[in-house]
Amino acid sequence: PLVTDTPLPFPELCARIHDRIRTFLDAKNVSDRIRNVQAQTRISLDVIGEALEQYRLPELSLSYNGGKDCLVLLILYLCALHKKGLAQIPNPSSNIETAVQCVYIQDAHPFPEVEEFVVRSSKIYSLALLEYAKPMKAAFADYLKDTPLVKAILVGTRRTDPHGEHLKHFDPTDSGWPAFVRIHPVIDWHYVDIWTFIRFLNIPYCSLYDLGYTSLGGTTDTHPNPKLVRQPSPPHAPQTCDTNGTLKSKFRPAYELVDDYEERLGRDR
Ligand code: ATP
Repeated sequence: PLVTDTPLPFPELCARIHDRIRTFLDAKNVSDRIRNVQAQTRISLDVIGEALEQYRLPELSLSYNGGKDCLVLLILYLCALHKKGLAQIPNPSSNIETAVQCVYIQDAHPFPEVEEFVVRSSKIYSLALLEYAKPMKAAFADYLKDTPLVKAILVGTRRTDPHGEHLKHFDPTDSGWPAFVRIHPVIDWHYVDIWTFIRFLNIPYCSLYDLGYTSLGGTTDTHPNPKLVRQPSPPHAPQTCDTNGTLKSKFRPAYELVDDYEERLGRDR
């Protein structure tokens, strides 16, 4: 895997991620799918690079909930920090302990698997993560109060997400929202691009995705994606097991879905 549960010193972590992404970008004679993701990766790194030119580290944060899109965003951000020589800790020009400030807004009915992955990934990637258990608007208002230097927040929204259609790489929040600039480096990634990247780089991800969940909300409004239900085995057929001998889930893993517009079929709203 790209990383393990034993945290690396931050500069080493970022260098490792940078090296692996370099290898990914340099890969030749690849499929069209990989070539697309290489192109999207370059664009996203440019957008993050622009953000790092425009803002000092204490002014930047990342909206992180352990989901696949913000996970890709986080990995690209760490790569970009290395590239710009900003992956040093402590950073004398900032008052923060770690380079990656994050805001996590807990769902009213969180999945334990999501909570676990947020904690696990916070350790692996040395995230300075502040958690809020309230509606989005109020949570962001509190977050900005608690981190008054933050001016811009990286968000993993994609074009096919609700409200993603007209977003640009940099967008101020709409009126009525706490004021900050939203940065959308992965806005034009497709669902398959996200999984191609995660799997090519072997990035650990939340376990719910292996159980057929394709987009993560709370326990009351999120189900495995019906498009991923396994066809029932014929009667008397031997039961299929995973390589480790446990019974296979009734759903196929999230990375087997292809269509962007089917991603949210496991979400009630
Ligand atoms: P998935 O779609 O599989 O749940 P995801 O959570 O990364 O993956 P979205 O749910 O589409 O993606 O949300 C888009 C982005 O909005 C996230 O990548 C993240 O940056 C931000 N976001 C969404 N929900 C939260 C939350 N509860 N706390 C912090 N950031 C969030």
